[in-house]
Amino acid sequence: MTDSITTATLQDWIARFGAAVTEKRDWLTELDSAIGDADHGANMTRGMSAVAEKLSGGTPATADELLKSVGMTLVSSVGGASGPLYGTFFLRTGMTAGAVTELDAVGLAAALRAGFEGVVARGKAEAGDKTMFDAMSPAVDALDAAIAGGGDLVEASKAAAVAAANGRDATLPLVARKGRASYLGERSAGHLDPGAASTALLFETLAAAIAES
Ligand code: ADP
Ligand code: MG
Repeated sequence: MTDSITTATLQDWIARFGAAVTEKRDWLTELDSAIGDADHGANMTRGMSAVAEKLSGGTPATADELLKSVGMTLVSSVGGASGPLYGTFFLRTGMTAGAVTELDAVGLAAALRAGFEGVVARGKAEAGDKTMFDAMSPAVDALDAAIAGGGDLVEASKAAAVAAANGRDATLPLVARKGRASYLGERSAGHLDPGAASTALLFETLAAAIAES
């Protein structure tokens, strides 16, 4: 039974997310070339490399110190829409996590929900707008539901990863109503949203970091 996540595991999550967006860089770019400006892979890789560089000095003591540093680095190193959105996600997640060295399941879920709410406050996306919202919203809901049902962090984070992947896949037929893809109107249908794809990686790597902690 895994019932808490330490700052070291949160840092492992960040490292895994950086590795995942780097590995999937070409795919994220390909998705963005269909309905955007073909830079999502480059944006995420640039941002997460800057984060890796920033964190190379060691593990910050507390969850808020770690996550706020990730958020600020993304905001300052990524020019695209995704930089401020993911930056806000990590900043708000960190603020809600607080100056603690570990989080229990309820604490992690509350922090991630605050991060998601930060993305909504910043980007004003709603369900079905074909954005990262469509992967993030079901993921935080699934995390809460699994915890309420008595699941431990391994099970709950796995459920969140599955929900995020399903949310990503469900963006395929949608017509974009936010971001660059919305300029395409009906022609945006039939393609996965790049930000929903990177958000699915965010929750997949969280589950992997927790499972292997
Ligand atoms: P840009 O659109 O500036 O080129 P990226 O290509 O890095 O930036 O990121 C595009 C992704 O950002 C989209 O696929 C979408 O998921 C997300 N996005 C764009 N605008 C919003 C918004 N207002 N709210 C939530 N997510 C958004
Ligand atoms: Mg783009």
